[in-house]
Amino acid sequence: MTSFLEYAPAPESTAILNLKDSYGLFIDGEFVAGHGTPFATISPATEKHIATIANANAADVDTAVAAARRAYDKTWSKLSGADRGKYLFRIARLVQERARELAVAESLDNGKPIKESRDVDIPLVAAWFFYYAGWADKLDYAGLGAAPRALGVAAQVIPWNFPLLMLAWKIAPALAAGNTVVLKPAETTPLSALLFAEILQQAELPAGVVNILTGAGDTGQALVQHPDVNKVAFTGSTAVGRAIAKSVAGTGKKLTLELGGKAANIVFDDAPIDQAVEGIVNGIFFNQGHVCCAGSRLLVQENVHHEVVDRLKQRLSTLRMGDPLDKNTDIGAINSREQLDRIRELSDIGEAEGAERWTAECAIPENGFWFAPTIFDNVSTSSRIAREEIFGPVLSVLTFRTPAEAISKANNTPYGLSAGIWSDKGSKILAVADELKAGVIWANTFNRFDPASPFGGFKESGYGREGGRHGLAAYLTSTVLQGAAL
Ligand code: NAP
Ligand code: MG
Repeated sequence: MTSFLEYAPAPESTAILNLKDSYGLFIDGEFVAGHGTPFATISPATEKHIATIANANAADVDTAVAAARRAYDKTWSKLSGADRGKYLFRIARLVQERARELAVAESLDNGKPIKESRDVDIPLVAAWFFYYAGWADKLDYAGLGAAPRALGVAAQVIPWNFPLLMLAWKIAPALAAGNTVVLKPAETTPLSALLFAEILQQAELPAGVVNILTGAGDTGQALVQHPDVNKVAFTGSTAVGRAIAKSVAGTGKKLTLELGGKAANIVFDDAPIDQAVEGIVNGIFFNQGHVCCAGSRLLVQENVHHEVVDRLKQRLSTLRMGDPLDKNTDIGAINSREQLDRIRELSDIGEAEGAERWTAECAIPENGFWFAPTIFDNVSTSSRIAREEIFGPVLSVLTFRTPAEAISKANNTPYGLSAGIWSDKGSKILAVADELKAGVIWANTFNRFDPASPFGGFKESGYGREGGRHGLAAYLTSTVLQGAAL
């Protein structure tokens, strides 16, 4: 859309990045060659090559797990909680010191707008390490009984939507609880995990305490199936989560799964509509909708339906899509061609099923992977776009008349990760929240994260909690009944 006041480009410089042409695997404190076929990581905004990345095969997984086991036995389990905490504080401070560089790397590799990586992802990464650093010497007070013990070696597999933040959600509690780690970042976004490995060297974290294996799905599979792993933590799709749960069953490995979602964002007619519209935008268009807890189903009370949808369209028409490194950009690139194809396919299905499609007018850059913010109105509850996770900037709008109908529609999903409620009435918010089957419920806000607050799902959204002292339980043996004290 053109306006009288065009924004001049304000690109963040990549000069701060000191990238290598190629990166090895990070095993036992060193970067080493991988034995699989290396692959490239590209910028999804330009399709330009960023770096060549090592690919870990099963033998590399063996070496990394052995390094983590050695580090667990010989160094990490021998340190006091206070000493482990010192390393975590050091990592947190180094993340802050290198925040600008990490933000640029994340936006380059992932496609997310620099204002999000700069103001959300990286500050939260530091916050997560600071928070769990504080827990390292207080595990006896975590509500898990006296002297809870670490599990051993944790295998962690993470997705591409919040690469460094998901790494922090996994590594910070694992280390605070005294475990050692082998982590696999997603194939399309390995860069910030590799810069993080450099930070670990800078922090002089003992060798082998954290190992980072780049590679694709088969690397992840070899890692979670490795017999010398005590704990598996996974964030990603429900299909892969289900396969991991099957392969881990009966092995004695502890498992946490953080999977997909199809969150209801419920707007009552007494809600402050302007704020609600901002919250809807933040709920589904933040990070191009690549958010597991995205508010992808808008449930709006029928008497304010047209007003809300009209204002939403007006607001979306002001969003700027384009270069993720430009500080004016609101909507960046879709992370991969594969994900773009999936978003296109499901959107076409939505249209074929009879929903009313509206797309914000914006210029689509020539190269790269882009999808303009899209709304589907008059979506029926049985439609695939109301049931399946699209994981893109696509909102499905449904209506309701009474709180009971809102609750029943909100819960009519195989998922249960998050939900939002917009109303002026506190009592209504509490009464509705009580009935929603979702792990996280936001009231008059959306997509807020804090390391002290537990996060996780119901039903097909997975099990276990990350964040808060609940997040420690996933990495400790408890002498009290699991969950009873939490
Ligand atoms: P995915 O396949 O579940 O990938 C998540 C992670 O698991 C990646 O590191 C992936 O490696 C790895 N992986 C793949 N197959 C594996 C296996 N058999 N065993 C162990 N690890 C394995 O997710 P995706 O393909 O990137 O995205 C597909 C859909 O998942 C999205 O459209 C979205 O609906 C959902 N998703 C949800 C979240 C979330 O936060 N809950 C995040 C991302 C995606 P590669 O990177 O090499 O594939
Ligand atoms: Mg990339």
